[in-house]
Amino acid sequence: MRRKLAAGNWKMNGTRAALLELQAVISAHADPSVNILICPPATLLREAAILAEGSAISIGGQDCHAEVSGAHTGDISAAMLADAGASHVILGHSERRENHEESSDLVRAKARAAHAANLIAVICMGESLAEREAANTLDIIAGQLASSIPDATNAGNTVIAYEPIWAIGTGLTPTVEQIDEVHDFIRQSLIARFGPEIGDGIPLLYGGSVKPGNAAEIFATDNVDGALVGGASLKQSDFSPIINALE
Ligand code: PEP
Repeated sequence: MRRKLAAGNWKMNGTRAALLELQAVISAHADPSVNILICPPATLLREAAILAEGSAISIGGQDCHAEVSGAHTGDISAAMLADAGASHVILGHSERRENHEESSDLVRAKARAAHAANLIAVICMGESLAEREAANTLDIIAGQLASSIPDATNAGNTVIAYEPIWAIGTGLTPTVEQIDEVHDFIRQSLIARFGPEIGDGIPLLYGGSVKPGNAAEIFATDNVDGALVGGASLKQSDFSPIINALE
């Protein structure tokens, strides 16, 4: 049975005052039946991890470098995230793929680094609007799955997030049929590549304009094991109803 996960991606939002929102999530979900993850900006990671220690909330990074250390100004390694108290790291988010020209091969190298540091890699993938309109969604996902997911992936070290680029931060969401089609395709692809035990065990998140008002409908879809939430994870008053809809 896959455990469900509500993951919040704060992106480049939040100064130390935002830790009050994390504290509110910790207080509101003392004994949740689902996993809860918050990925704050790197500047808040250590303080967030200290705040969340002993609570039900996990803390994650939003990216890592593929190497352990070295001359990479401005970058953070997976080992550094783990040392700061992270248990997860988001990789291959479309904003990284677009703004930093990250290829699926690089995402796979980062995922290997995350696994080597004992971090759970939350690997994102999704199609653009043009790709969906050209009926290429499943081909794009097949390519991203093949190239972004390392061979050593298992149900304990990886979560996959399907995030259609056109739904991120736009207020647009796919229909539940569209989400169902892609999640089923990812599930069958994972089973074909890794076998039924691993392929069936890897949690699949949906991401893209998840809000309190649409969460329950999305979570009722087959093979949706939770959500990666951007904007609605910034305030506990928005994030808690999404967590509650998953429980
Ligand atoms: C995201 O950034 O992963 C995301 C899904 O953002 P939003 O929920 O704001 O669309």
